[in-house]
Amino acid sequence: MTKTKGEDFQHSINKDDNYIENHLARKKFSRKLLFWYAENRRNLPWRHTKDPYKIWLSEIILQQTRVAQGIPYYQRFIRQFPTVFSLAKASEQDVLRLWQGLGYYTRARNLHHCALEVVENFHGKFPDNFKDLKKLRGIGSYTAAAIASISFHQPVVVVDGNVFRVLARIFGITKDISELKTKDYFFALGNELISKEHPDEFNQAIMEFGATHCLPKIPLCGECIFNKDCIANTHDLQTVLPVKKKKQKVTKRYFYYVIIRKGKKVAMRKRNEKDIWHGLFDFYLAETTKPSNLQKLREENKILKNVQSDALSKTYKHQLSHQQLLAKFITVDLSTLPAEMLKVGFKFYSISEIKKLPKPVLILRYLKDEGILE
Ligand code: SF4
Repeated sequence: MTKTKGEDFQHSINKDDNYIENHLARKKFSRKLLFWYAENRRNLPWRHTKDPYKIWLSEIILQQTRVAQGIPYYQRFIRQFPTVFSLAKASEQDVLRLWQGLGYYTRARNLHHCALEVVENFHGKFPDNFKDLKKLRGIGSYTAAAIASISFHQPVVVVDGNVFRVLARIFGITKDISELKTKDYFFALGNELISKEHPDEFNQAIMEFGATHCLPKIPLCGECIFNKDCIANTHDLQTVLPVKKKKQKVTKRYFYYVIIRKGKKVAMRKRNEKDIWHGLFDFYLAETTKPSNLQKLREENKILKNVQSDALSKTYKHQLSHQQLLAKFITVDLSTLPAEMLKVGFKFYSISEIKKLPKPVLILRYLKDEGILE
């Protein structure tokens, strides 16, 4: 089998165990990175504080979220819940409502749960070290390292996609980042590289460098302080590094939502299954694994049996990390809800009540398109 460019390169550097050590002195890497950061850092609201509550909040919001999208959420959360005590006191529904639109709602539920843990078990003070922070709900290695370094000056490196990319390119690492054990390798390397004097700045610098300079598709190599040392640049491997062999499979799900209306009221319920959108409100749902039509849906589903309308809405696409949802909506007028719907918590809600309920963005899009919500 022909070797890829990356495999060829790996073969040549594997012969030299001290490659990374010899290639770019660690101190030099850290110094250069900090220098770059001092010149290029963005002025972000959470960069003016060391308060572990605020650092934690910003890190949870920024997981899977772009900075520009995350800023208003961070500001709203700080305004509404200025301390971990106020967040712990809130209801889960209020937290989900404020989170609405950010997606990955498990983060919001964990956020609330973690605030309760910090208040109940730690008198409202976040643990001051990586190991204990990691024991809290929703705090993984990345977030624990960010809080431990920024708030408590611990030299523990953050490792995420940005860090994989920066280190893999500069040091010419061709390990497959879709393998779990590769993360340990990068974590160990990063912990050797991290500045012991300024671990807080180092972690923010490497995140920032990956997010704004060493970009996935078009890295800014021409104006990069590492361009003479960077293996990806000197060997033209920017598109090869980091190596990711396994692609995550995306599952398609077909949602047929039935909007049951009674005058201006609409039937909704809180999702309680172990599935996406736990705790959010949606409509009666018939789900299929293949595209369906109204006739088939009627045959399979009692509630749809008497539906006369043949008007299925257009398809609404909604992309989640590993799922693609393809949703259509059917409107039905009913004055009373069937017993099986009442049993699982369906109720009629007025428009002003619906406004206040936490809802998935997909549902919100439909309600706005139909003019039910503004
Ligand atoms: S030279 Fe290019 S690939 Fe290398 S670190 Fe700089 S931006 Fe990234």
